[in-house]
Parts: sequence; structure tokens; C-alpha cells
Amino acid sequence: MEYFDTIIVGSGPGGYMSAKLLLEKRKRVALVEKSLFGGVCLNAGCIPKEGLYKLALSESKPEWKVAVQRIQGKVIEIRDTALKSLVSKGLTYIEGEGELIDERVVKVGSRRLTAQHIILACGSKQREPGISPEDILRGLILPKGNVCVVGGGAAGCELAFILRSFGFKVYLVRRDTVLKGYENIPEEFAQKLENKLEEHGVEIVESLRKVNADIVIRATGRVPNFCQERFPFVGVDEKGFVKSDAFLETTTGGIFAVGDIISPMGAGYAFEKAKVAVHNILQGKEKSFDHRKVPVIISSAYQIGFVGDIKDARVLITKSLGINPKYYVTENNGIIKVGFDDTGRLVYCCVIGNEVSEILNLCATLLGKDLEEYLCLAHPSYGEIINEIMSIKQEVCQ
Ligand SMILES: Cc1cc2nc3c(=O)[nH]c(=O)nc-3n(C[C@H](O)[C@H](O)[C@H](O)COP(=O)(O)OP(=O)(O)OC[C@H]3O[C@@H](n4cnc5c(N)ncnc54)[C@H](O)[C@@H]3O)c2cc1C
Repeated sequence: MEYFDTIIVGSGPGGYMSAKLLLEKRKRVALVEKSLFGGVCLNAGCIPKEGLYKLALSESKPEWKVAVQRIQGKVIEIRDTALKSLVSKGLTYIEGEGELIDERVVKVGSRRLTAQHIILACGSKQREPGISPEDILRGLILPKGNVCVVGGGAAGCELAFILRSFGFKVYLVRRDTVLKGYENIPEEFAQKLENKLEEHGVEIVESLRKVNADIVIRATGRVPNFCQERFPFVGVDEKGFVKSDAFLETTTGGIFAVGDIISPMGAGYAFEKAKVAVHNILQGKEKSFDHRKVPVIISSAYQIGFVGDIKDARVLITKSLGINPKYYVTENNGIIKVGFDDTGRLVYCCVIGNEVSEILNLCATLLGKDLEEYLCLAHPSYGEIINEIMSIKQEVCQ
């Protein structure tokens, strides 16, 4: 038997962030991974997608195959550097499939590991069989001819934009408007993105039957990658998500869950869940997970992102981004919608346009705060749009 303070199963954002935080506190940590270090996010999701998105925006693009190879080269570099950095801090990295054979014992091949705490971070997988966005981003499948992306969610909108930018004929199949599943993205913002995608040359259709496709990519959603036979002491709900309390402890005390096996899915949420679980392991259960504080960003024909919850807002202010001098010169015709609660605190922001992540991060930092007290901004900067919002808020709330 090998003894640790914490054993983590799965090395995606939830797993490796948990490991990093525990190692910083000099804990003995084992990280078990059955595939590539870094999980979906690093190898086949956020990171390669962001790299290809940046290339998609540039004037001089290489051909697709070269672009994917270039980005995968970077992914390998990041993977090696990140893993070496954790191992240099004392991490025991174990390759293989982990399973729970007792409430405190993880079996990996012939090894038996035990610890006071276990963190499960097994991630998610494509809901439907077929070619996935991951296959495309990793270069396992090369798109050709008429490409059809099925699904108008984040991954579908992002991939359709990227592939179209690289010159492919792209169809996007969606049932309603794009991004329909996001309660915090107003319909007019989703419609604006859809119009821009069409302007960009993506053909939007309602049914796969209307398309003569050479390749069909299924971006129709993801499900938790959690196999209860391997983790028999941990309860799951009817959708397959691991059951946990607000502190991310599962139905068995001492076993926590982070990442996509707990709703909502997304790497940003996975990092926050890791911080919450590690805090509760180290300090006792006192920190609860609040999905509202995590900003979400989608990079497509426009960038579109939100933080907070529109349902918490009493006053909503919508403004064009174009009035900001910095945007004026870059001809941005985006929109921002900001919500305040009864006490005048910022509780929601959704923004669409070009280069909006800076504004979104600013709003995430200011969430739950009284802006008058905290706002101090560089000039000229994209974030200055918040000054305009403040002026309107003062008029509206008088
Ligand atoms: C195309 C695409 C684009 C995306 N873009 C974004 C984005 O821009 N922003 C964003 O926030 N999110 C994005 N996501 C979502 C993001 O990738 C996931 O939310 C994130 O990777 C989930 O992290 P995780 O820690 O739950 O685990 P994952 O990244 O899913 O990794 C889980 C790991 O656990 C391992 N594992 C599972 N079971 C076992 C076991 N029994 N033993 C050992 N190892 C095991 C798996 O091999 C895997 O490596 C994207 C996803 C996709 C598919």
C-alpha cells in the first residue's frame, strides 16, 4: 500500500488544479491518469481551439493540416512543461485507470494507493457516437468537402467559425437560434452571433437532412465520464452527474468531486470547483461552490461571454460598445448588458463583440461589489465601457 494525503483521479483542469493547490501546501499527492495529462481541455478542447481560433482571425493562415500540427506541437510543449512542474513540486504521477476498491483505497493496475481524501475529476465525453470536435481539434480526422457541424451550442458555433475561416464550406445545424441552452445569453445577443456567422459564410440549417455533407461533426453535447462500477461508493443523479453537497463532497465523506462530473460543465467551472474542494479539504467544509462567479466565454464570429445570473438583476442596462474610444478605432459594434441588484451591486454582465474577454474578466472581478467604490480604469482601455454604464446606472437608479 502507498500512502498519500490526497489521491486525485483524472488530470484535466479539475484534477491538475487540485494537485497544484495541494502541492503548494506541501501535501503528498498522487495524480492518476489513464490517458493524456491535461485532459480534454489541454489536449482536445479549450487550448487547441483557442490556438486555431487565433490563427483563424489572422490574415495569413497556413492550410488546416499544418495549423493543427503546429497547435498540437504547442500542446505537447505545454503538457510536458506543466507535468514536469508538478512532479518537481513532489507530485506522484501514476499512469493507468483508477478505481475505488474501498472508501479510501484506489487501485491502479497492481498498485494500491490510500489517502485521507480522494478527489474524483474524471471529466466528460461526447454524448453521441460519431466524429467529435475533439477529433477535429486534435487532427485525428481531417475535414474535407462539405463540412456539417451539428449542434448550435458553444462548441458548434466555435468550430463552424474556425473551419469556415480556413476556407471549408460549412453548414451548422441548429434546432432554434444558436446558444439556446444559455439562460444568461439574451436572445438578441444569440441572434447577433447567428447573423454574423451567416455573414461569415456559415450556412445555418435546421436539419441534417437538408445538407449534402462529406463529413458530419457531432457537437451535440457532453455527458459525465463517470463509471459507477469503478466508483461504487459514490452516488450519481439521473443525468449521470456525481451527487455532491455545496462543498463538493460526494455521498461518501472524504471523497470530493470536481470538473465536468459535477454540473455545470466547463473548464472555468472546473478550476473554481478545484479551489473549493481543496479549500474544504484543507480548512474544513466552509466554502461552497457558486457557479455565478465564473465567467464563461465563447469565441466564434463574435466573442460572447457572461458572468453572474440575469435572474438576480433588478436593473438591467444595455449599451453599445462602440461609444468607447478604444472600440471606436477598432470599429467594434458589440453590445453589453449589465445587471444590478436592489443594493446597486453588480450581479450580471453579458457582452458580445470583438475582444470582449477583458471586459468580462473585469466584471467577474467586480461581481457583488459596488462599482462606485472599486472602479479605477486605465485610459484608453476596453474596460472603460463600465464608466458609461455607471453614468446610466446613476440616472436610472435615482
Ligand atoms: C471542443 C471543446 C472545446 C472546449 N472549449 C472550452 C473553453 O473554451 N472554455 C471552457 O471553459 N471549457 C471548454 N471546454 C470544456 C472543457 O474542456 C471541460 O469542461 C474540461 O476539460 C473539464 O475538465 P475536467 O477536469 O472535468 O476533466 P477532463 O478535461 O474531461 O479530463 C478528465 C481526465 O480524467 C481521466 N480519467 C477519467 N476517468 C479516469 C480513471 N478512472 N482513471 C484515470 N483517469 C481517468 C481522463 O482520461 C481525462 O484525461 C471545451 C470542451 C470541448 C470538447
